[in-house]
Amino acid sequence: MKILVPVKRVVDFNVKVRVKADGTGVDLANVKMAMNPFDEIAVEEAVRLREGGLASEVIAVSCGVTAAQDTLRTAMAVGADRAVLVETDAELQPLAVAKLLRAVAEREGVQLVVLGKQAIDDDANQTGQMLSALLGWPQATFASKVVVGDNKVTVTREIDGGLETIELSLPAVVTVDLRLNEPRFASLPNIMKAKKKPLDTLKAEELGVDVAPRLKTLSVAEPPKRAGGVILANVAELVSRLRDEAKVI
Ligand code: AMP
Repeated sequence: MKILVPVKRVVDFNVKVRVKADGTGVDLANVKMAMNPFDEIAVEEAVRLREGGLASEVIAVSCGVTAAQDTLRTAMAVGADRAVLVETDAELQPLAVAKLLRAVAEREGVQLVVLGKQAIDDDANQTGQMLSALLGWPQATFASKVVVGDNKVTVTREIDGGLETIELSLPAVVTVDLRLNEPRFASLPNIMKAKKKPLDTLKAEELGVDVAPRLKTLSVAEPPKRAGGVILANVAELVSRLRDEAKVI
């Protein structure tokens, strides 16, 4: 079984993002970029499945600018066997990414696609669900446990009410949540080895996908500044402030 793991290059989670002065988006100039953290968990899970003899190959794929090659090398340094870059300078929205991923999944003949539950830049949480619909494959989102069996995958999902376990027939799409595993660090020898692993580049047009945005961003703004907190002397003061001053917003 081949596994496809889509990985997105995003602003590193440690960076405090700044909105551009003209409100057209987030300032990406000289900002540290990294693999979306949920995608690190997805790669780790796929690599563990291969190490456990349940998968034959793990293919990482990223859609975006040339620099996404770095993200793919990181995926290969932690165990992905090879990588595909779908190169485009266009602004990619989740539907366009899902269409590109469908084309790659079909081309590669994969049986399982393991994605992050969401990308931490736009927090869309849409790509996996759209991909599942486009492929006509079953989906399990927010996975905290993945067990691959004979032609099926059993997934425990994190839902509002607790946990839910569902069984999907393969091929299938799984999106992963935070508690699924703890991703390994790439060792220096493996970073070196990853430089030699195959990385193919395709142009979005070669896949016959129209990636034109369907949504228009009107403006991007910083969230309002929070007013500072106060430390109260005791519970009596807290109760009185709640009674006399607190307002329902
Ligand atoms: P989103 O729907 O944008 O929150 O992203 C959910 C997941 O889809 C991510 O965690 C990635 O696994 C995948 N994904 C989104 N955008 C891309 C991209 N440009 N290239 C590769 N994978 C992506």
